[in-house]
Amino acid sequence: MPAKIIDGKAIAEEMRAEIKAEAQQLNAQHGVTPGLAVVLVGEDPASQVYVRMKGKACAEAEFFSDERKLPADTSESDLLSLIAELNADEKIHGILVQLPLPKHIDSSKVLLAIDPAKDVDGFHPTNVGKMMIGEQTFLPCTPHGVVQMLVRSGVEIPGKHVVIVGRSNIVGRPLMNMLSQKNDHANATVTCVHTRTKDMAGFTRQADIIIAAAGRPNTVTADMVKDGVVVIDVGVNRVEDPTAKRGFRLVGDVDFEAVKAKAAAISPVPGGVGPMTITMLLYNTIAAVKAKLGI
Ligand code: NAP
Repeated sequence: MPAKIIDGKAIAEEMRAEIKAEAQQLNAQHGVTPGLAVVLVGEDPASQVYVRMKGKACAEAEFFSDERKLPADTSESDLLSLIAELNADEKIHGILVQLPLPKHIDSSKVLLAIDPAKDVDGFHPTNVGKMMIGEQTFLPCTPHGVVQMLVRSGVEIPGKHVVIVGRSNIVGRPLMNMLSQKNDHANATVTCVHTRTKDMAGFTRQADIIIAAAGRPNTVTADMVKDGVVVIDVGVNRVEDPTAKRGFRLVGDVDFEAVKAKAAAISPVPGGVGPMTITMLLYNTIAAVKAKLGI
């Protein structure tokens, strides 16, 4: 049977419609418009694109969006003052500081300054700790998006062996934690592999579900997977392509066509995890409003 394509774009659209309906309801019933502040320091082109996309997503979901663009030479103390201002602002329910920050600013100090109740990126150590012990909190957006893709595609997670390729603090490590929690959207047996793993293919071949987040094309090839595997590809990599208008194209970490031939379900790149990340940011902002209202 041909592999089912796990269409992140369609799942993101479905979730954004739900989020917009919730935003309208919060407005109608409580007079509150969900507010998201996005702080960008400097002119990194990729960060500018992400910030623009976040602003557009906020507008479509009928959120209030407060974009703060600061010059690259902004001092750490000025940035911390802005965070304090946004922490105190009643109209703002979520604060996101676009990473990476310029080198003269200590990112961990800035992330620590965000009120954990407004930390919709889920990077504050308080929220990371809550996630770790299975308390309700803001879950980091990309890994949470991966879990939603599995759940909403009808992939059974409990009891399955999930192999995660990559152990970063923003993708692999939170996924290890989330999928091994004791709840209906988890209860998996989780293995995490990385560059120091001996015989990585020996692990991936045992996997019912593979989540690739290595940031290297062709990290997962067809000989490394068993028939019927479910694959989520988080990777986003540029590969040269003279036939493409921009001179490159985007690929994931998985040899898509070859692995698709063996898989039960697989997510593409682009159109897979990518659209889910901003969606989960909106989702967390709604959660922040509800927590503030006590509903
Ligand atoms: P990262 O911080 O560079 O971490 C990559 C991880 O993969 C590391 O743990 C590394 O192992 C491991 N790794 C690298 N090459 C490997 C290999 N050949 N075999 C086994 N493990 C390998 O990257 P990240 O921030 O987690 O991002 C991973 C990918 O996801 C990137 O392509 C990124 O662009 C993409 N991403 C996409 C989204 C989205 O919204 N779609 C969001 C975030 C990230 P070591 O720890 O041993 O070095």
